[in-house]
Amino acid sequence: MTSTTATTPEATFQLDPAFNFGDDFGPEKIVYIYEPRCGLRGIVVIDNSSIGPAIGGIRMTPTVNTQEVFRLARAMTWKNALAGIPHGGGKSGIIADPRTLTPERKETLIRQFARGIEALNQYIPGPDMGTDETAMAWVRDEIRRSVGLSSVLGGIPLDQVGATGFGLAVCAEVAQHFAGINLQGAKVSIQGFGNVGRHAASYLSHPKRGAVVVAATDLPGTVYNPDGLDVEKLVSLVKAGRPITEYNEKGTKILPRDEFVKIPVDIFVPAAQADVITEANAPLLNCKLMLQGANIPCTDVAEKILHERGVICVPDFVANAGGVICGSVEYHGGTKSTAFQEIEEKLKENTSAVLEHARRTKATPRAAALDLAKERVREAMSYRRAN
Ligand code: NAD
Repeated sequence: MTSTTATTPEATFQLDPAFNFGDDFGPEKIVYIYEPRCGLRGIVVIDNSSIGPAIGGIRMTPTVNTQEVFRLARAMTWKNALAGIPHGGGKSGIIADPRTLTPERKETLIRQFARGIEALNQYIPGPDMGTDETAMAWVRDEIRRSVGLSSVLGGIPLDQVGATGFGLAVCAEVAQHFAGINLQGAKVSIQGFGNVGRHAASYLSHPKRGAVVVAATDLPGTVYNPDGLDVEKLVSLVKAGRPITEYNEKGTKILPRDEFVKIPVDIFVPAAQADVITEANAPLLNCKLMLQGANIPCTDVAEKILHERGVICVPDFVANAGGVICGSVEYHGGTKSTAFQEIEEKLKENTSAVLEHARRTKATPRAAALDLAKERVREAMSYRRAN
């Protein structure tokens, strides 16, 4: 096993020399893991561990590269700092296509990768695109260090319990006051009815909050009923593997997928992919509050357009932090109920701090959140030994 810092065969890892990595915050380490016998090529970036050991997922895709891992690691630095968990930001990548690997080969690569990062104890891996709780179980078996485990290994399966969706609902409780809406009776549209979207729908429409989910979009199309969808029925349908468009309760319209932007709602929750709201459709989006469940669902320009139109966008690294808070609680031996308590407490505090700061400075909530996260990381850095 070879593991080197910042130098690597270029053809293997394709480090772009023009990419400027270093700034006041990091990265602290870029490590390449190369094992020619089994074809493992892995990248680890520990961006900043001043607050604590970095938590961040292992992404397995054929195209993952150093720049991408660095950007994701930096995003984790801000997300973890803002979430108020005792962890810094890091991320890693394995260059391989999980869709074409045999299960045996995937296991070999993950186990080799885990052995490669054994000594990097400032990095705690979790699941990301292409890896899951089984992969985390292999990592733990090798090096006793990972989050996102199944409950049999003491984990809190965050997609089953809906940690991120719950966090979005908590975020809505606070953000309603800044967006001038009343959560009881607020109309909600959700794009992406997967793990995050489904749970967000259930928690938002819980009688305690009383929001009304009027539209849900997934790959086959958009289902819309201005009087409200039956969330329980919709969740059961999708969980049974049926297309969302088979939902046929009275009064429901089935619309083309991208029609969701025009539906008038109070709250829009993107929970599918990156960059779904762009310069082209941001002027059409008909909502007062956007809770970003997905990572970077809006381009920068689209977010500015929405800000100028008075739409409050609670940015991804504030709104979707429920998952990482859950991972942190799991790592420290906590239970599901502790995780939910922490998500509630931290998301309330952070959403309020970010939106207050944005209101005071007239900045976008994203800029305000970044200010607060940087402040926390800088303070943590000030306690570190300088030499
Ligand atoms: P998922 O795969 O379970 O769900 C995504 C859903 O979006 C799927 O049902 C998919 O069919 C649908 N989708 C994909 N493209 C679409 C499109 N163009 N239009 C409409 N629907 C589309 O994934 P997830 O775990 O729910 O994650 C969703 C997003 O949230 C991702 O961006 C992820 O990075 C982010 N996120 C997830 C978590 C978590 O706890 N799972 C935490 C933080 C952020």
